[in-house]
Amino acid sequence: MPEESKVGMSDSLFSPRSVAVIGASGHPEKVGYALLFNIKKTFTGRIYPVNPAGEDILGLPSFKSVSDIKGDVDLAVVAVPASAVAVVIDECGRKGIKAVIVISAGFKEMGPQGLTAEEEVLMVAKKYGIRVLGPNCLGVIDTSTPINATFASVAARRGNVAFMSQSGALCSAILDWAGKEGLGFSKFVSLGNKADLNENDFLEMFEADKNTRVVLAYLEGLIDGGAFMKNARSLIKKKPLIVLKAGRTESGMKAAASHTGALAGADAAYEAAFRQSGVLRADTEEELFAWSKAFSMQPMPKGGKVAVVTNAGGPGILATDALETAGLSLASFSAETINRLQKNLPPAANFHNPVDVLGDAAPERYRFALDTVLKDEGVDAVIVILTPQMMTKVEETAKQVSEAASKSKKTVIASFMGGALIAPGETYLREHQIPNYEFPSTAAKSLMAMVKYDMLRRREPGKPAPACQNKDKAEKIISACRKRGDVVMGPEAFDVLSLYGIETPKMKLAQTAAEAKKMADSIGGPVVMKIVSPEIIHKSDVGGVAVNVSLDRVEDTFDRIVLNARNYLPSAQVQGVLVQEMIQEGKEVIVGVSRDPHVGPLVMFGLGGTYVEVLKDVSFRIAPFSESDARDMVDEIRGSRILKGVRGEPPSDIDALVDVLTKISRLASDFPQVLELDVNPVKVFPAGGRGCVAVDVRVILAQGG
Ligand code: ADP
Ligand code: MG
Repeated sequence: MPEESKVGMSDSLFSPRSVAVIGASGHPEKVGYALLFNIKKTFTGRIYPVNPAGEDILGLPSFKSVSDIKGDVDLAVVAVPASAVAVVIDECGRKGIKAVIVISAGFKEMGPQGLTAEEEVLMVAKKYGIRVLGPNCLGVIDTSTPINATFASVAARRGNVAFMSQSGALCSAILDWAGKEGLGFSKFVSLGNKADLNENDFLEMFEADKNTRVVLAYLEGLIDGGAFMKNARSLIKKKPLIVLKAGRTESGMKAAASHTGALAGADAAYEAAFRQSGVLRADTEEELFAWSKAFSMQPMPKGGKVAVVTNAGGPGILATDALETAGLSLASFSAETINRLQKNLPPAANFHNPVDVLGDAAPERYRFALDTVLKDEGVDAVIVILTPQMMTKVEETAKQVSEAASKSKKTVIASFMGGALIAPGETYLREHQIPNYEFPSTAAKSLMAMVKYDMLRRREPGKPAPACQNKDKAEKIISACRKRGDVVMGPEAFDVLSLYGIETPKMKLAQTAAEAKKMADSIGGPVVMKIVSPEIIHKSDVGGVAVNVSLDRVEDTFDRIVLNARNYLPSAQVQGVLVQEMIQEGKEVIVGVSRDPHVGPLVMFGLGGTYVEVLKDVSFRIAPFSESDARDMVDEIRGSRILKGVRGEPPSDIDALVDVLTKISRLASDFPQVLELDVNPVKVFPAGGRGCVAVDVRVILAQGG
């Protein structure tokens, strides 16, 4: 959809001048009543209730059909039975309405019949160029228009958080929670079944929205991973995107013919897509909210150096631990700061970070300490901890904290710990936009989310994987295999790797022992010999691989390997024995490809060897990706230190490995017909050597075509 019409769309949906409520009802227990009630309560534009009875509802004259409405209608909100929705949309189309929210349930969520109904609705909408939100959703809220076009019983407070949710029920809970926490919304969207408008459209709208500072999303799946990543990347340059992703999709990645297939759980593709596009992924609802509070209420920290001001030693230590666990560091104060603290705080206080203002600290003492550390250039953010002690004046301290914070451009986060005793302070902080957390560890983690986001938004997109000059040739090889009906590619798979610039060992396929000997002689010994058969997936498991074969043993090894294969599976079709140059040196790693139908081609990296499926020490990225993504992939696995060289070993050629990873990512994105691919192992030489050599490859092709 072109840019301009998207802006128009956003306007019709979030800031319409007139709204028709189709299925408006005078019965308070009906959705059509709650909708009209909320709209009437919040919206100052024209409201047209539409109802077959045509009687007045909530004091508004109503219409039998949208076509009876005289003026223009920007937005229609539909809450009629599912079976009537298509007809209603058709009427909206004829009326020239461009945006429709379908609240009605009874569609895809109900099974195949509902899906058919949903498709019909969509077809009608397309005919008129209508964009549809829903069906089966709660509606939308825009607090600056203002309009509350939902049937939720809680109102949204005005603020800077844009939220979209695939669960309507969660929407109401969040509105309720946010009210309690003092969190305000700019826009609020219940996505429903995402028949038409989906997360990608709203990422664009939220990015453009001046009232939005933070974007939150609760998602159960992505409609189009590529589009999501593109939009998310663009959005996060301007504002943070926090996603809570639930639901484990059945993504058809179970075909366990490859290690990659077995290791890429249903969530791996999502995780990769989020990482690559700079999304902050919350693991729990708690994190989603905790982080959003910090982003919404406080300025971004310029770095990760944190000061702690506390009136109790224990919680100060807890905060320090939490900060360090989260990856943040305690700021070290300047001599001037320490001096000032020393002069003005009681002698028993701690003048270093964490600053302990002691249990009897009055609000003024807190204020002094806070002002002093905020002034220190080595401090980016402050966590203020308060425990209710005998002398503690909770509310007055909250006031001093919020005043100090408002005078500074630095991030101030509070953890007033306790229950009833600290409640007045909590209220004060909430009303003055100081994010307060029940525990210092949550405060530390929320601050870390901010620091992490700052890194993500500054991250330079690396050099993208280069296009392959030999793509056409590779394509020919792959199509020839598919025409033959091959599901598993034979040794041609090595040719495809070579065409993509990945080094493979010298090799030849032998049909007889004598041929094998001749080939081994020409390659030069010792060699590696392997059975080639589409039925044998793990060749060494069945005695189908012999390494380090000296030239005089090639012929009997040939016979032995073929015999082993026959014994394992008499019906196996043996295409021959591959005689390969023996790659003596190098560490073994695995590079694989699998696919998620929604998110895209997924590349996996891990240390090779037999234990990869047990250790699950692997990393994933969506293809194609950049060199810097490939580098992150290598760094991310726990075993990456092994590649960097431990105990005097020479470091491996990480640059060459990064190059192989980006090339495989290009291959994966060039050929959707390659369902799965395992290069296991790739041998990585020490830096300054031969680079990487792919000694085993397995490719599973899509059938048909
Ligand atoms: P499979 O994975 O089907 O058992 P591979 O071709 O991966 O068969 O061979 C098994 C192991 O043999 C590899 O993991 C690797 O350690 C070793 N190997 C295979 N080919 C070579 C080679 N050309 N040079 C050195 N080692 C090899
Ligand atoms: Mg292998």
